[in-house]
Amino acid sequence: MDCPGCKGTMTPTEAGDITVEACFSCGGLWFEQGELGRLVNRYPGEAQELDKRVAAQPEASPKLLRICPRCLCGMTGFDYAAASVVHLNSCPQCNGVFIEDGELGAIVQRKQAAQARAEANTEAQAAKRAAVAGLEARIGQNKALAAVFRRASER
Ligand SMILES: [Zn+2]
Ligand SMILES: [Zn+2]
Repeated sequence: MDCPGCKGTMTPTEAGDITVEACFSCGGLWFEQGELGRLVNRYPGEAQELDKRVAAQPEASPKLLRICPRCLCGMTGFDYAAASVVHLNSCPQCNGVFIEDGELGAIVQRKQAAQARAEANTEAQAAKRAAVAGLEARIGQNKALAAVFRRASER
């Protein structure tokens, strides 16, 4: 398969439980539909290792052709996330995705940062819930005490 980045030859390369097409010249990676998400979600370590393994050669001069190697139609570029430095190219026909050198590592890092933020949020919420529960327990004790005092004073 021809690399959509530099027209070099892509080599089937294993990562996690999927096989991606990798270009060892410009460092580009081709993912069939759903493969990129699967790799990043299930095998973030393997994804980063793949990103390092398939690095661009210093002499490579990639000029993105943006032609889908499967359908030979034009691909559309889009940003991975808002204000993202990661710019992906996908094929509107087969939904394959081409990413350039170093972008896979950036995707994994962004995802892990987002996960860490989500976990921190969950912890903060759990702490808040625990604090509320503690407060409610104290209020309950106070009510019980108040009832005891009330009974005592009524005697
Ligand atoms: Zn290439
Ligand atoms: Zn295609």
